[in-house]
Parts: sequence; C-alpha cells; structure tokens
Amino acid sequence: MEEDFDIRESRQGTERDRDFEKALRPAEFDSFSGQEKIIENLRVFVTAAKMRGESLDHVLLHGPPGLGKTTLSQIVANELGVGIKITSGPVLDKPGDLAGILTSLEENDVLFIDEIHRLSPVVEEYLYSAMEDFRIDIMIDKGPGARSVQLSLSPFTLIGATTRSGLLTSPLRARFGINFHLEYYDHEVLERIVLRSARLLDVKCTGEAAREIALRSRGTPRIANALLRRVRDFAMVKGSGVIDPEIARYALEALNIDRYGLDEIDNKILTTIITKFKGGPVGLTTIATALGEDPGTIEEVYEPFLIKEGFLKRTPRGREVTELAYIHLGHNSDPTTGSLFA
Ligand code: ADP
Repeated sequence: MEEDFDIRESRQGTERDRDFEKALRPAEFDSFSGQEKIIENLRVFVTAAKMRGESLDHVLLHGPPGLGKTTLSQIVANELGVGIKITSGPVLDKPGDLAGILTSLEENDVLFIDEIHRLSPVVEEYLYSAMEDFRIDIMIDKGPGARSVQLSLSPFTLIGATTRSGLLTSPLRARFGINFHLEYYDHEVLERIVLRSARLLDVKCTGEAAREIALRSRGTPRIANALLRRVRDFAMVKGSGVIDPEIARYALEALNIDRYGLDEIDNKILTTIITKFKGGPVGLTTIATALGEDPGTIEEVYEPFLIKEGFLKRTPRGREVTELAYIHLGHNSDPTTGSLFA
C-alpha cells in the first residue's frame, strides 16, 4: 500500500520526530554543517564572552522552520559551558511564568525562547528590563494592596527564534545585539547532513543515495533527517538494509515525495499563480487572499525557497512563476504566449 509522507508534519515535528531529532542534533560548532558565516561569527562572539567571563549578548535567530535555530542555541550554550532553559512564546502567557524562569537562571546561562514573535505584549514588556538591566519589576497582589517588587537576575543570554521576524516589534528587535538569518541549505550540505545522520543511526548509506534524499528535502535538515528515517525502513524491509540509490528512489517514489522537495503549499502557490493569474506578475496579498494564507507567512516561509530553487521571481510588478514551475507542474506551454517550452 502506498503511504503518503506528510512533509508539513515533519516540518513542524511530531513528538516521535522530536526524540529522533534529539539523537541527531549536533552538539558543537564542528558538527553543525552549513550556515558558515553565522558559525564563524558565533565562534568569535562565544570565545570573546568566555574570555571576558561575561554573558554573551542576546541573539535573535530568524528563518524558516527546521533549519537549525534550536540546535544552534543548544550549541551556543554548550560551547559557552553554561546551562540552557528552553521555552516558547505561546507558553509564556503570564509575566509570572517569565519571572519564574528568569529567576531560575544561573550566571551566564542561556534562555531560549522559540516563536518569540508570539509572546504576549505584557510578557514582552517585562522582558525588556530583564534583557537590558537584568532586573524585573513584578506586581504582587491586586487592587489596593498591589505593590511592585524589583528582582535582580543573574546575567543571562536570551536567544530568541522566529520564523516570522516581520512580526517582531521594533523595541524587542532593538534589544538583540546579535541578529542572524538562517538560509535554506544547499544540496551538498544536506547530503553531508544525511551521511552524518546515517552514521549516527548506524545504517549504511551511499553518497549517491544521500544526494537523492538531499535533493528532495526542501533545503531543510529536519526534512532530510525525517526522509532518511523513512528510507531506512524501506531499505530494511524491501532491500538489503543498505541505503543505495535504487532503494532511495524506490522509497521516495512510494512516499510520494515531490521530485524537487516542494510541499503541498509550495505547489498550491505555483498552481494558483499559473491558473488564476496567468503566471503573474501578481501582488503578494492577492496570492495570499486566493490561497487563504497569511501574506507574511508566504513571504517569509515559502517564497524564499521557491525563489532560491528558481520556481518564482520577484519583479517590481509582483511575483511571477518561471518556466521551471510550468514544467514541474506538467504544463508544457506558457498560457499567455502559447509558446512551447523545449
Ligand atoms: P528549528 O529550531 O530551526 O526549527 P532545529 O534546530 O530543531 O530547527 O533542527 C531540526 C533538526 O535538523 C535537528 O534535529 C537537527 O538534527 C537537524 N539540523 C538542523 N540544522 C542542522 C545542521 N546544520 N547540521 C546538522 N543537523 C542539523
């Protein structure tokens, strides 16, 4: 029976995916592949902070899901030789939750807040003084007996991660001394990640098979690792246990993985532009309305990959699909001109 592989699910990560991810997560700068500029800079900042015996400046990491934001923050804590507490914007819904976690931090520890764009405005306000002066004023009691108490905190590093940096308020953004954007990975780097994961999982995988998996992973290590896990199952059941190109191709076909690693929404964006807007140019908000998606998510999460892989172009008059998009979606001619693609 055919099994559909839900790429969206592995992008977000289910609970089992998360256990699996933990096992494959690089723990040092040296085992983290790609994002070279970011790593190079972080190494310098971490070394300098250690030399001074101070906390590292606050760090903002932004970029699409599954590219290594959580992993990087754990590496930074590890390389600093400090502890890390992990939470997320939607979880911290009261100032008291934030105060609890901040007061539990030890000197120079890292606090990682995922989805930091989803912090509630009051919690965000409290975070400002914590980030700036390592103190927090909290209100105790309500009504006439209410009073404010100032708590001092140990110096710490906040690492904020977001897929939607456009939603961050400017006062919050301004409080991060270090700011990095993570990019989608090239196939060569993903291939190295797949081979490393295969080694850790103790499964033999040829270079060519790793490349097959890398090509279909939407530039995302999380998807590459999830595909590797599925392909490993096929290799065990239908093959010799070794992941070779034949079994990799067989498994990826059986799982219905798009040849270019595009997911359902990517394909919907391209199809909508082609069928409803004659291939473009068309404005971002118009595309978003037609799809019932948020324009910011399309712009920050989906579009960068489609542009990087050459399916979409940004022009002064709006978004336009390329010839590659027509070919990929099985249209062999441009409907506006009727001209045939080779
Ligand atoms: P994000 O926080 O950006 O959503 P994660 O840090 O959770 O992404 O990364 C998802 C998974 O991908 C992790 O389990 C990790 O094993 C793997 N991963 C991410 N980036 C890299 C990398 N550069 N090298 C190796 N593995 C990576």
